[in-house]
Amino acid sequence: MIDQTPRYDYVLIGAGIMSATYGCYLKLLNPDLSIAIIERLDSPAMESSDVWNNAGTGHAALCELNYMPDSSDGSLPSPQKAIDINEQFVFSRQLWSYFVEKGILEDPKTFINSVPHMTFVRGSKDVDYLRRRYRVLKDEPLFEGMEYTEDFTKINEWTPLLIEGREDEVLGATKIDSGTDVDYGEMTRQMIHWLEANDVELITNTDVSRLRKLNDGGWEIKTKNPKNIYLAATKVFVGAGGYALKLLQSAGIEEAKGYGTFPVSGHFLRTDNPEVVKQHWAKVYSQAAVGAPPMSVPHLDTRLVNGTPSLLFGPFAGFNLKFLKSGSFLDLPLSIRPANLIPYLSVAVTNLGLLKYLITEILKSKKKKFEGLRVFVPNAQEQDWELYEAGQRAQVIAPKGKLGTLQFGTQVISSADQSIAGLLGASPGASVSAKVMMDVLTQLETDLVRANKAEIRAMVPSFEKPINSDPTFAKKILKDTAKVLKLSK
Ligand SMILES: Cc1cc2nc3c(=O)[nH]c(=O)nc-3n(C[C@H](O)[C@H](O)[C@H](O)COP(=O)(O)OP(=O)(O)OC[C@H]3O[C@@H](n4cnc5c(N)ncnc54)[C@H](O)[C@@H]3O)c2cc1C
Repeated sequence: MIDQTPRYDYVLIGAGIMSATYGCYLKLLNPDLSIAIIERLDSPAMESSDVWNNAGTGHAALCELNYMPDSSDGSLPSPQKAIDINEQFVFSRQLWSYFVEKGILEDPKTFINSVPHMTFVRGSKDVDYLRRRYRVLKDEPLFEGMEYTEDFTKINEWTPLLIEGREDEVLGATKIDSGTDVDYGEMTRQMIHWLEANDVELITNTDVSRLRKLNDGGWEIKTKNPKNIYLAATKVFVGAGGYALKLLQSAGIEEAKGYGTFPVSGHFLRTDNPEVVKQHWAKVYSQAAVGAPPMSVPHLDTRLVNGTPSLLFGPFAGFNLKFLKSGSFLDLPLSIRPANLIPYLSVAVTNLGLLKYLITEILKSKKKKFEGLRVFVPNAQEQDWELYEAGQRAQVIAPKGKLGTLQFGTQVISSADQSIAGLLGASPGASVSAKVMMDVLTQLETDLVRANKAEIRAMVPSFEKPINSDPTFAKKILKDTAKVLKLSK
């Protein structure tokens, strides 16, 4: 390392929604911190956080069945996981409201809009499950306003595109108007714009290749493109999406040992044809095919980008070796280490069905994928829909004993000395970025959080408090955030 290496209090690697959120927390709680964000691409939010690289669902478990799996014996399913996801999304709603009030985020219509969330199922088994799911959720404060129907005419009113030609089928649907469509890319750019105006340095087109521990406890950050630039930081947050694992591995921290990353690619079908788009105003989730991973639950979504609606259907999951959409086919092979070889192999062996599913999916032609849409939208016309590649998901392979286990959630990895943390995994993703980044802040900045609880509560009134179990509090938070974010409820 050269003597004049620029030194920061913090370096955030990657300019996606996670680093942007973390940077805002840091600057709000300690404006004096010197911070740099290093991004390998031209500008922020071009990987998973980009508006078309994800589905833009504000995941609040209002419509996604995988957050409330059925019971094994036909009894009422437990709502606990759904409530937990919803509370995390409401945490985000509070932070984003605060950011709007502070001018960090602009007009909410530029990044969040009300779009009803629906679940739509066919066949008596799934209808029975949906009916029981509704019986449980309708009385939970955070799910207030959920409607249920098995009536063809009513479903036709809610979502005509899905229902044509299904007069004789057994159908069930729920709808809740407090659902949202979110442009996480726009949100990221607005936050980073505010950070730059508050002395945070954004360094783009710069690829971090290595992290090395310094004798003083900080970190040396080396880049490979441009070659061999060195920076130093007292603390590092690795918000590099699919590349987080390889940077944490390069840092050599004990806590990252044994972890692996399982890449899952995604494609969507999209239509901008106004004649089709105007027939659908909802995000409709259904049941995943047998053997399909949770992130491939089919959904037909209204998207609002720059105020213009489009429809998106998918995702069509697949397997390839890249950890980022703009990554390399060497990503997976180069991530294998003696410490994670057995976890990788054990996940491959225990998930052969999943691998087979993903490889079959990726080999499907556009025509075959279109047939999947026709199962959902019986009268869809192929010429209206375009197939495109979305972001790459990097699922977590976590060590479990001597073996490994595939996880579909998000995992924070932080060093015992509180000098570095990173985020692995992709789900429920950007929706819960505010809560996940608060968890990182609590791990890396325990004293700062302890000393600023009142300030944090001003940002997020539900900080360290449950919401759903206090109906008056839940109602107030939903009402207050809906007002600021200009949402239905
Ligand atoms: C197909 C798909 C659908 C999804 N749907 C939803 C959804 O509906 N709702 C939802 O809430 N979430 C969804 N997600 C998840 C969500 O998009 C992600 O969880 C979220 O965007 C991750 O943000 P991030 O900041 O961690 O990563 P990213 O947005 O990927 O940002 C990481 C950044 O780090 C940069 N970087 C990487 N390596 C380096 C390096 N070595 N040096 C410098 N920079 C580096 C990258 O270029 C990138 O800009 C979806 C994801 C996918 C792929």
